[in-house]
Amino acid sequence: MNAVNSNKDEHKAGHVLIVGSLNMDLVGRAPRLPKPGETLSGTSFATIAGGKGGNQAVAAARLGAHVAMIGATGADSYGAALRAGLADEGINCSGITTRANTPTGVAMIIVDDASQNAILIVPGANGEVTPAAIKQHEALVATADVVVCQLEVPHDTVLAALQTARRLGKVTILNPAPVSEPLLASWLPEVDYLIPNEIEAATLSGIAVDSPQDACIAAQRLRALGARNVLITLGARGLVALTGEDMAHYPGTPVKAIDTTAAGDTFTGGFAAALARGASVHDAILLGQRAAAISVTRAGAQPSIPYLHEVEQTA
Ligand code: ADP
Repeated sequence: MNAVNSNKDEHKAGHVLIVGSLNMDLVGRAPRLPKPGETLSGTSFATIAGGKGGNQAVAAARLGAHVAMIGATGADSYGAALRAGLADEGINCSGITTRANTPTGVAMIIVDDASQNAILIVPGANGEVTPAAIKQHEALVATADVVVCQLEVPHDTVLAALQTARRLGKVTILNPAPVSEPLLASWLPEVDYLIPNEIEAATLSGIAVDSPQDACIAAQRLRALGARNVLITLGARGLVALTGEDMAHYPGTPVKAIDTTAAGDTFTGGFAAALARGASVHDAILLGQRAAAISVTRAGAQPSIPYLHEVEQTA
């Protein structure tokens, strides 16, 4: 058993702070996607807690970390449900602001019988997580070992979080999702671990990523642009990691995937939790990958994320 999996001592759990989004996913299923102007009868409906920030917070908590979150919801039932869900996971919600006049973020998702989907995300309160919130909750940054950001809250807030974390000597992780333009090179010095998927890596590096070999080239390009360590996730093909002077391909764990929602979030949360408790980068990658492989065998975002004891059983 390796260092990642042998540490079950609660007192040795590290502290992870997530700065990011909280969404309620409204998931309807239908035989096919409706055409513009068409009304179609669906076959099922579910509300499922999601948002990259919330997903990564739940993943880090289930995979062994003490977790706090900075984010925002509306003063509505979705917001209350999302907070209750995080609190049930033992996550410190004191950094989550309630916005009186803005709805909680939602993702309206339609999935058809061929597993194609159409998704409309309305960020709502996620768009109101301000740099002032980072200042207000600096004590949460100070308590953390590892601070994790994505790009579903305003970019100036993400930069403020990364800069504050670095100033306080914390390890920083940026999962640059969703990304629509090359990331400001000025951000890269604030990031210890950049974790894009293949599409995000291509956007950031300008290099198409269709294989692990391409990912190595893209990682080197991102290093040349100023990234310290780069982990490019490649779905079922695993990931390519450029850490220090080492470049390595970690093949994916072979599983029967049924829903890859939150695979990247599970990886990032698990990687952060393991780093926070002092695991090596290698062991943290393995933990994240094993956890993500389990998540793709289950449906939904947060419901699919495994607990540490489940991951240990697969080691
Ligand atoms: P994202 O969800 O951000 O697009 P990826 O799809 O690249 O992220 O998945 C993240 C990680 O999850 C991968 O590096 C891999 O370890 C694991 N993973 C994803 N899809 C599969 C799969 N079909 N089989 C096994 N592991 C998977």
